[in-house]
Amino acid sequence: MATIQLNGENRPVNTLFCIGRNYVKHVEELNNSLPTEPLVFFKPPSALAYSGEQITLPPYSENIHFEGELLLYIGDLSGKDGRNIGKEEALSIIEGVGVGIDLTARDVQDYEKSRGYPWSKSKCFPQSACVSQFISAHEVSDLNRIEYELHLNGERRQRGDTTLMIFPLPEMIHYLSHTYGLSEGDIIFTGTPEGVAPVTKGDKIELTLLNTPLNAQFHF
Ligand code: MG
Repeated sequence: MATIQLNGENRPVNTLFCIGRNYVKHVEELNNSLPTEPLVFFKPPSALAYSGEQITLPPYSENIHFEGELLLYIGDLSGKDGRNIGKEEALSIIEGVGVGIDLTARDVQDYEKSRGYPWSKSKCFPQSACVSQFISAHEVSDLNRIEYELHLNGERRQRGDTTLMIFPLPEMIHYLSHTYGLSEGDIIFTGTPEGVAPVTKGDKIELTLLNTPLNAQFHF
């Protein structure tokens, strides 16, 4: 079974939910339309890669983009119904917070979008879901105001801020709960801000969750 590390402990992974188009400036940089409800896709647990790993890019794409994202780990629901989580209790089911990369074969995704095909080949290849370790949500001072950064080869390229999300965390969790159902072990990739760009062999990406000791590195 796939796992992640939360406070140094191995924890099981269930579904990997991914939110697309959740920052206005990112929607604009790809010339996409603004969503009227969260745009959701999935990655398989076989897509997971962990901080420190060497990432091998798929040979069928000439244009792999990094998308730096805030990650949420859903913990024990404590008797709550995962298909009926209200906005007011949504933050309480976040047990862990991390950062990661939703690697995307942009050329393949453009083809899939033009044909109306699913995004599987562009989003679900091995090591396309890069994750940090997770820290306890209690270590984050305000879950409604989380900031993180992505550096490519030492240069800051992305800065995420939950206050700029089109669908903030309570709304996103409420939506996923009511549309798909949430369970312990689910991970949510919460969407990327502007600044996505290609990553190539030899690059190094570092992610940091601001105001916490959490960071992660991936080598390409
Ligand atoms: Mg993404």
